[in-house]
Amino acid sequence: MHHDRVRPARADIPDLTMNIQETFCPRCGAPSPEGLCPACRVAETRWLECEGRIACVQCPTCFSIRQGKVWSDLQTDREGLIRDLALSAVRLHPEVTDVRTGIWFEEVSPNRTACTVEVHGRLYGLLVHDLCRVEIVWQREQCNRCSRISGGYYEGVVQIRAAGRGMTPHEREAAIRIAEEAEGALQASGERLSFVSGIEEIHDGLDIVVGSQHMGQVLCQALAGELGGRCTTHPKLVGERDGRQVYRITYALRLPFYRKGDIVLSKGTYYEVRKIEPQHLAVFNLMTGTGRALREEEVERRIGNVSDAESALVTYTSGDTVGVLDPATFAPRDIPAVPWLFPVEGAPVRVIRDPERDELIMIG
Ligand SMILES: [Zn+2]
Ligand SMILES: [Zn+2]
Repeated sequence: MHHDRVRPARADIPDLTMNIQETFCPRCGAPSPEGLCPACRVAETRWLECEGRIACVQCPTCFSIRQGKVWSDLQTDREGLIRDLALSAVRLHPEVTDVRTGIWFEEVSPNRTACTVEVHGRLYGLLVHDLCRVEIVWQREQCNRCSRISGGYYEGVVQIRAAGRGMTPHEREAAIRIAEEAEGALQASGERLSFVSGIEEIHDGLDIVVGSQHMGQVLCQALAGELGGRCTTHPKLVGERDGRQVYRITYALRLPFYRKGDIVLSKGTYYEVRKIEPQHLAVFNLMTGTGRALREEEVERRIGNVSDAESALVTYTSGDTVGVLDPATFAPRDIPAVPWLFPVEGAPVRVIRDPERDELIMIG
């Protein structure tokens, strides 16, 4: 029973109390609650406009983009860049909602890309869709970083040398890796001019040429943190540019003579270097399994490093002796047992060879 319903349920039945002139669209005559109907409003609105042509300045070497005076690294691939540029040329009426876009493009010449942008949306309650065309004009220009690199520009050199020895291959590899990581991290944080412009292998060390002083500082600290040693800074005035004094800075990193993992001999006992402190070495006694501090002048000889360890097969264990096969000759040898290590018969144990005393030292 609907006897209590007094108003029409459907909104499109004209309300007879309204002025008759306002219920029809003055342009097309279709029923309209007031003024122009939505279709006629859409028809007279320029809801989609595009700039017909936009320019993009790009570095041909590293694909960085220049906007105004500012260069920045490209965060996307070429297709993504074309999409972003084409969309940046599109202007939509503010009342368009539910916008979806599709973009097609064609490379018409090395310097021109023709884009078609299709836009779907909703305006005044109606679904709308239209196309517009944008031409991207590519301009090639060497960016600030590439022109500095190709011009040999640099602000500093990180100089790595080791005290009383050459750098080891492991240290060289680590230094090159750390330089690449530092460059990547600084550039990712937006420091475009923090680049490594060259790495020179010097017979006793490594020179890393850097594009910015900040890069030099960060890199030297990172190297010292991983390889040990201390950084010192030595500025040198090299001239004047635009009324400002120009310095080049040498960041000198002196690696300590001893390295972590070195096996050293002191008063007949072998130690493994665990840490290099400013005044002493923190060492582990490979005979007793205890730690202590050792001053460098107490070291008689450096035997090697744990990275040079060999693997020897344990043939038997009995009380204070461990029998192994010498990994070089496969001859059986006896080594004194140590209280901190429990070798297992038939399993390997890591040993370091002291050629001077013809001994094998178990290191774990
Ligand atoms: Zn109308
Ligand atoms: Zn570039």
